[in-house]
Amino acid sequence: MTRYIFITGGVVSSLGKGLASASLGALLQARGFKVRLRKLDPYLNVDPGTMSPYQHGEVYVTDDGAETDLDLGHYERFTGVASRRSDNVTTGQIYSKIIARERRGDYLGATVQVIPHVTDAIKEFVLAEAESEDFVICEIGGTVGDIEGLPFFEAIRQLGHELGRDNCLFLHLTLVPYLKSAGELKTKPTQHSVKELQSLGIQPDILLCRSEQPLGPDDRRKLALFCNLREEAVIQALDVETIYAVPRAYHEEGLDREVVRHFGLEEAPPRLDVWDDIVDAVRRPEGEVTIGVVGKYTNLLDAYKSLAEALNHGGIANRVKVKVEWLSAEIFEEEDALDRLADVHGILIPGGFGERGSEGKIAAAGFARTHKVPYFGICLGMQMAVIEAARKLVGLHNAGSSEFGRADPAVIGLLTEWLKGNEIERRGLDGDLGGTMRLGAYPAALKPDSQVANIYGETYIQERHRHRYEVNINYKDALETAGLRFTGMSPDGELPEIVEIPAHPWFIGVQFHPELRSKPFDPHPLFVSFIKAAVDHSRLV
Ligand code: GLN
Repeated sequence: MTRYIFITGGVVSSLGKGLASASLGALLQARGFKVRLRKLDPYLNVDPGTMSPYQHGEVYVTDDGAETDLDLGHYERFTGVASRRSDNVTTGQIYSKIIARERRGDYLGATVQVIPHVTDAIKEFVLAEAESEDFVICEIGGTVGDIEGLPFFEAIRQLGHELGRDNCLFLHLTLVPYLKSAGELKTKPTQHSVKELQSLGIQPDILLCRSEQPLGPDDRRKLALFCNLREEAVIQALDVETIYAVPRAYHEEGLDREVVRHFGLEEAPPRLDVWDDIVDAVRRPEGEVTIGVVGKYTNLLDAYKSLAEALNHGGIANRVKVKVEWLSAEIFEEEDALDRLADVHGILIPGGFGERGSEGKIAAAGFARTHKVPYFGICLGMQMAVIEAARKLVGLHNAGSSEFGRADPAVIGLLTEWLKGNEIERRGLDGDLGGTMRLGAYPAALKPDSQVANIYGETYIQERHRHRYEVNINYKDALETAGLRFTGMSPDGELPEIVEIPAHPWFIGVQFHPELRSKPFDPHPLFVSFIKAAVDHSRLV
């Protein structure tokens, strides 16, 4: 039987609801339960794929090719359960489905309304594909009181009623601010937020209170009394030094104890040694390396969430602290600025879109190649390295990407058709932008004697993709003769997936996003190897 836990937020946004949900998932898993995490996003976009990273942060891609909210990345990193398309829904998706049904005539005769049609569609989503899970943890985006969130709150209220309170739990995450001038914690915002939730018919079973200072017994009593719950169900969530310390911290405060108690489940304590080991590696590193990440959205780190975590995982595996210098690519359009790369131990160019900063990225890739600094190019980062090699090693001085307008020649060109399973997918220049890239997990075959095959320990891999452009295979021979080896290709041999420079200590470009699959307890081999190469390089400089 599947039980449902709904996680709502109040007072302010950005309290870390995604992390709280992910950590609760990890705790229940550590008690032996099977979990799945889902996110309901009240905005009108069909998915975050068309949103700027400044609006939304990273777009997290699932194996089955959905472009989803970055919280799904936290869910996977904390539980290892691969997210699916069906784990993230938005108002835009719900409405698209309902309007299509209405046009088909499925509701013939009825007036289509928010209640019951929208709320029913939300409930359908929450309940879908959850046969074998013990728990579905469902996070509701935004904060209570947002107008666009109302149908979602109504839908989960109805589910609470229909499934029975024994099968559902409502957890509300709030902020208990500390007022310096008064020298005390303030519970009033939380009281108001819970009242708002109650006015929608939802009584929280657990309050998770983010706070900079420990809650005193009086604060707890007050919150319990005014918010209508037992004192033990008021759980403090203090700041911790690393996100991987959150499961242990919440456990110590009794979060999972309260959850299993609510459902009348047995009290076997969770096994948290994995998390303790990870935190130990973060707290007591044996060295430090600096990685320069040359990108476009470097002043909004949420845009590179999975990447930053994957670098940390590489550090954990090598027991070093990874210091990241986030460098805006545009600065490298001035040649002198390349000196800034002299002190880093590895250069990484992440995924990205659009022309701005591309010449700076190409220059940074060139610096890494010629100065033998470990280089990791991811998606756009691989494309930039290929352009650099085409210009400088092959002598195609005007080589470029058709993503940035006309190039002569376009060594990176629009991907117009590719194999998905046994079917051919086709794209043109004038198609929709939303959801039409080459998305999700695709296989690649690796050259057995390559560095990447050695790193992966296998020659057939599956990685997640999100791209519209691709290295033009017509330049493969010329690039190989010049020293860039194509060591990973789509199994049909049509699409370059990986390039490397054998004559360089560590120079690898990949057309996919390995960061999306990295976990602290199962770090991605490419990140482990890249950080190891950076450690080796740091001994030289
Ligand atoms: N903009 C490039 C493309 O569409 C790279 C995409 C990416 O880095 N995710 O192919």
